[in-house]
Amino acid sequence: MTNLNLAASHDAFARAKQLMPGGVNSPARAFGAVGGEPVFIASAKGAQLFDIDGNAYLDYVGSWGPMILGHAYPPVVDAVRSAAVGGTSFGAPTVGENELASLIIECVPSVERVRLVNSGTEATMSALRLARGFTGRPLVVKFAGNYHGHVDSLLVAAGSAAATLGAPNSPGVTPRAAADTLVLPYNDPAALVAVFAEHGPQIAAVIFEPVCGNMGVVVPTKEFRDALATQTKQHGALLICDEVMTGFRLSLGGAQQLLGITPDLTTLGKIVGGGLPVGAYGGRSDVMAHVLPEGKVFQAGTLSGNPLATAAGATTLRTLRDEPPYARLDALGEQLQTGLDQAATAVGLPHHVARVGSMVTLFFVDEEVTSWDVAARCDTALFAKYFWAMLRRGVYLPCSQYEALFISAAHTESDIQRTIDAARESLAEVAGG
Ligand code: PMP
Repeated sequence: MTNLNLAASHDAFARAKQLMPGGVNSPARAFGAVGGEPVFIASAKGAQLFDIDGNAYLDYVGSWGPMILGHAYPPVVDAVRSAAVGGTSFGAPTVGENELASLIIECVPSVERVRLVNSGTEATMSALRLARGFTGRPLVVKFAGNYHGHVDSLLVAAGSAAATLGAPNSPGVTPRAAADTLVLPYNDPAALVAVFAEHGPQIAAVIFEPVCGNMGVVVPTKEFRDALATQTKQHGALLICDEVMTGFRLSLGGAQQLLGITPDLTTLGKIVGGGLPVGAYGGRSDVMAHVLPEGKVFQAGTLSGNPLATAAGATTLRTLRDEPPYARLDALGEQLQTGLDQAATAVGLPHHVARVGSMVTLFFVDEEVTSWDVAARCDTALFAKYFWAMLRRGVYLPCSQYEALFISAAHTESDIQRTIDAARESLAEVAGG
């Protein structure tokens, strides 16, 4: 198999490491989980990425989710360009904010009012503060393997860590910050009932990924979803659906519309900004009324509602509403799921391909992944070999076993077929070695 020439990326990474910790501004992109150096991207168009050595890749990362319409989608580029000409930030209200807010409220069934922020982390952090301010209670329940951004109190059993009650994942998160977070296994209704029986009057909120993407794709069972709804309601806690990844991806109304979930609050990010930095939290109007300046729960942002970001976000949401790609994305997802499953079966590798719509994970484990305990049994060394084998064949996958790959509206059936062909060769190569 041909080797990639990554000389320019190698040099750029050497320089980057002198300038930034680990050479990156966010750890996942450093390729650490697959034991190598990252590729430096020069540009992207549609479903393709181009690196600084001149290699082209079929992209299944999509900037970790936002690029559902493909890269440099012309109407989004035009909207950003014309917004920039009019001034890049005012720190004052604009009608662009009204447009994006009204599109969010129109699309996401449970959102009655919304506040725009700058990232998914800000959205979850603010939603937790609001839930605590609204209920007057301290505790938050989260699930092992669910990632909600890097806010201290949620950096507990996030994504890849063991499910330990209230133990921080990162140095710098104090045990006291983590102590107000109760961690439970995903898809375990009995554990949820038990935690509410013990701590009910102290629990402000339960936050969860309505389809998990951060331990690879894991789907919540009906029993689990029902328990989330009934337990929070019965005990007066808020249900926070973290749709930073799934919002506008699994349907126009996100996972909550697809699965019939009615949360009190929803957090959004990624697609809502069309590739620019936007997050949002919203939900019940009476709860949102507690946010300053209408209420007393503080939350602010110099660049929140930025005109470039709202232009990109609104153009993206309008496109998704007016020309919904979801049926096509589902068909492409099914094609990929079937192809990957057959390719792994053909070479006798233990595997399970999980998928919801355009989010897909090929797990190297021989059973369905329902929680972090199962995900942790995956063969991550095998994944690393598969990742590099695919990259050498021009397919850019998320660089960890514990991620979803994302299909965009710019992918074609022949792109998917090319990916399946590359997977067949790559899996044969890694199974043999
Ligand atoms: N919640 C979920 C479900 C996410 O997937 C992410 C990011 N991958 C976040 C929150 C944090 O978003 P951001 O990286 O924009 O802070």
